[in-house]
Amino acid sequence: MRILVLNAGSSSLKFKLYKMPQKDILAYGLIEKISEELADIHLFFAKSNYKKQKYIKDHQKALKIVEALFLEFGILKSFEELDGVGHRVVHGGEAFSEPTIIDDEVIKVIHQMIALAPLHNPSNLLGIEAMRALNPKTPQVAIFDTAFHQSMPKSAYLYALPKEWYERYGVRRYGFHGTSHFFVSRQLAKLSNRDLKDINAISLHLGNGASACAIEGGCSIDTSMGFTPLEGLVMGSRSGDIDSELIFYLERSTKLTFKQIEWDLNHASGLKGICSDNDMRTIQERISRGDKEAKLAFDIFIRRVVKYIGGYAMLFKSLDAIIFTGGIGENSALVREHITKHLGLLGVVLDKELNKISSSLPRVIHASNSSIELWVIPTDEEDVIAKESFRLLKNLVKE
Ligand code: ADP
Repeated sequence: MRILVLNAGSSSLKFKLYKMPQKDILAYGLIEKISEELADIHLFFAKSNYKKQKYIKDHQKALKIVEALFLEFGILKSFEELDGVGHRVVHGGEAFSEPTIIDDEVIKVIHQMIALAPLHNPSNLLGIEAMRALNPKTPQVAIFDTAFHQSMPKSAYLYALPKEWYERYGVRRYGFHGTSHFFVSRQLAKLSNRDLKDINAISLHLGNGASACAIEGGCSIDTSMGFTPLEGLVMGSRSGDIDSELIFYLERSTKLTFKQIEWDLNHASGLKGICSDNDMRTIQERISRGDKEAKLAFDIFIRRVVKYIGGYAMLFKSLDAIIFTGGIGENSALVREHITKHLGLLGVVLDKELNKISSSLPRVIHASNSSIELWVIPTDEEDVIAKESFRLLKNLVKE
């Protein structure tokens, strides 16, 4: 089966073509700056790569370009050869706790979720609708970032707010990055040769966006992102947890409007707010040159992660592992070292040498006397989307 995985952003489209069930990656790539003056097209296949810049009006045109490139390079004759398309969809609300085959009703519900995820769901829908318009017969599957967290108990997902706000307006914690936390927890079970049901773990997805997740027996029981991805850890440019009263103070007492404050909390805060840089590599480089502002941003980031680990550890009867993933979690030995040095109370002991080894493979970094395992597990959300789409579609389609 040929499954195309799509991740549509407001002006971008990431794609990866899988041959399933072998999980062979036949091609992958990215189109950025759709609807801008010049879009960047990148395609990688069979150890080759192709790059071009040209104006691309919308996501449908972008998909047509991908289809034409697949034909030109002998990857597929047309999208009609696809057996399915799997989409990353950010917000599934309470309606979706599983990957779901897309039909008119599902599209309607994803539309309804736009009020909850105005920055993400419209772009995800662009990808779904563009593919439907081009290739209406191919079944499509939606994999929701929120779905994995639908297992959280009410005590984790309800805010201490007037209960009408939840009942009437859907105000609750949904959690995001679910596909990544799902993937790394399954990988941990596989790699450590244990039954998922027997593992309690804290997964730390530390990238530009960052979240922590408490995972009991394979199920999310708490996570740091909430009603939106703004809550929780300090991120590249998002504040994470704040006192919500400060929003009203700023609106009342300064010239900032709610719109500007919302923008600043999402795009001008976090690491960037403190030290003007949101890229952890640059921040580390600045720290090595003695830059105090960069070190302060780093320390605030670390402290927040440590507080979440401490809090989540207390939710379990026992804790087996802490997993590091995402661009920072996978690659920054410095971040891992600084987080774990605060975890002595839990009996965590880092093996500093193992931690320093840079690799794209999953690996352990704890010392033999550590009471909790420390794992670095590169995430692969596309892998989950391809596998889940295959699982749902294999009975519909004949090879
Ligand atoms: P996104 O949330 O956009 O998917 P990523 O998961 O790709 O983000 O993570 C991006 C972050 O990972 C950036 O802050 C980047 O600096 C950081 N990063 C990537 N490689 C390294 C590295 N070798 N050392 C430190 N940080 C790194």
